[in-house]
Amino acid sequence: MTVHVPTLLLMIMVAGLVMSLSVGAVANWRQRDGMMYWAVGLAMHGASYLFVIQSDALGEFNAFLIYNLCRACSWAAFAEGLYQFCKRPAPRALIWTPAVLAIISFVLLFDHLVLRIVSTSLLGAAQVLLVLSLLWQVRHQTPGRGKYFLITGLIVALTLLLLRAVKATQGDATVIVSLTTSNPIQAISSFAVLTILMLLSIGFVLLSKDRSDNLNRMLASRDELTGLANRRWMREVLTSEWSRATRSGQALALVMIDIDHFKDYNDQYGHQAGDDCLKQVAQAIAARAARAGDLAVRYGGEEFLLILPDTDLSDVQRLAKNLCQSVEALGLGHLNSPSGRVTVSVGVAVQSEHLYKDAESLLRAADEALYRAKHGGRNQVQVALASLSPGAMAPRPSMKLVRLIWRRAYESGNAVIDAQHQRLFSDANELLNAVFGDQPKDHLENLVQVFVADIAHHFQTEEAIINKAAYPAAAEHAKCHRDLLAQSETLARRYRAGTVAMGELFEYLVHEVVARHVLVADREFFSSLNAS
Ligand code: GH3
Ligand code: MG
Ligand code: MG
Repeated sequence: MTVHVPTLLLMIMVAGLVMSLSVGAVANWRQRDGMMYWAVGLAMHGASYLFVIQSDALGEFNAFLIYNLCRACSWAAFAEGLYQFCKRPAPRALIWTPAVLAIISFVLLFDHLVLRIVSTSLLGAAQVLLVLSLLWQVRHQTPGRGKYFLITGLIVALTLLLLRAVKATQGDATVIVSLTTSNPIQAISSFAVLTILMLLSIGFVLLSKDRSDNLNRMLASRDELTGLANRRWMREVLTSEWSRATRSGQALALVMIDIDHFKDYNDQYGHQAGDDCLKQVAQAIAARAARAGDLAVRYGGEEFLLILPDTDLSDVQRLAKNLCQSVEALGLGHLNSPSGRVTVSVGVAVQSEHLYKDAESLLRAADEALYRAKHGGRNQVQVALASLSPGAMAPRPSMKLVRLIWRRAYESGNAVIDAQHQRLFSDANELLNAVFGDQPKDHLENLVQVFVADIAHHFQTEEAIINKAAYPAAAEHAKCHRDLLAQSETLARRYRAGTVAMGELFEYLVHEVVARHVLVADREFFSSLNAS
């Protein structure tokens, strides 16, 4: 089959023009995304053949001079465009010197066909290499598939130019410059040029599209007010970091942060000041997410989360304390706060040695620790108790750090209830001692059994007392007891069967049952008891 090369050249011209117009149409000069340069490059590349076809009218020298000029300028335009796209200063000398040299060598070597072809081809190859090397450098920062189209197109162009130089030295120089003659070399190079044009135009448009898609995705994953990651992004990161920590066995720390008395701050200083305060606190939090892989998240209104991979308990405790201090050091006045300044409460949980079964449990543990920080007086750091299990921290924590201490403020006024509440406290402490004392599992199982039995007994007694005292929400409270007991029994059973870790069981018994229920929910009926 013979291919009619002049028709192919015409196709290249039309294709170059159409692609140039298409790229130009989506270009936005003000965005300086390199598209305009690329459109000019494509147009010049396609148009270069127009002058060769007109060589009878223009004369060979003029026709090939303009042809080479167009080619050299088009590669320089591609380079300019790519530098602009990458937001890097364009090295003008590097971009334009080969183009100028190509024209000079064409003029000087016009009568030496082989040398002329070799020099213009090699200088063209140098221009292609410049674009290729920039693309190679930025390949990791440029998302998507566009770069592969471009790299392929550039490699084809480089090969074509080098082949031209080699072929010229092998006696095919006249065939190479007979651009409009239908011979196999011209047919193959015309097809190659058409392919290059298509790959370069599609590739660059894809490159731009992929980058704006990425930008949109980023914007959709960021909280507008603070610029921190939003919950959607957090979900993705937490899931992947959880899997990574599980695979590698490295620790994964979560830090949950909540601004203290923020509702009062808004009420006192107005919503706008509240927003400014949120931004400043967010900045202090973001400054702690300093390592690659760390993520600072706006978790809710005035709640934040730090995801810190490969961070152990002692590191995260230090970080959380620093954070508390640095927020206070912002010096944001807050009349309704005990310290007179804006402060935060912080809850910390660390996954290590498979203490938590999934990312949700770890998140819940951090939330529960935050809850204790709030109830412990705010402006402080609390660690999820399960995270303090043996091995989670080096050196081992002192017992005092995690003992539950009974206070007079917890008293309900009913001696039976108070005695039972204290009994639950001592059950919790005994279990804690046993866990830290590396006691055998059957001993821990016995303690858990006693703990759960004491909870059941206490719930029963308490229900009788509040019914007698005609506490209006007694039925609701009893329902709450049933749920807590059912879950405690389930977890205890699963612990015996080995399907749940002591950390999670302990967290539930101590946080949900003792801390949350006994210390907080029960307070609601204290007044009924005192009234009766
Ligand atoms: P605590 O110390 O127990 O955390 O008390 P708090 O007042 O901080 O907690 P609460 O959850 O009662 O109040 C949170 C407040 O945060 C209520 C809401 O008006 C405010 N808030 C949430 N999102 C925004 C926001 O985007 N801008 C402003 N200005 N305020 C917000
Ligand atoms: Mg708050
Ligand atoms: Mg809150």
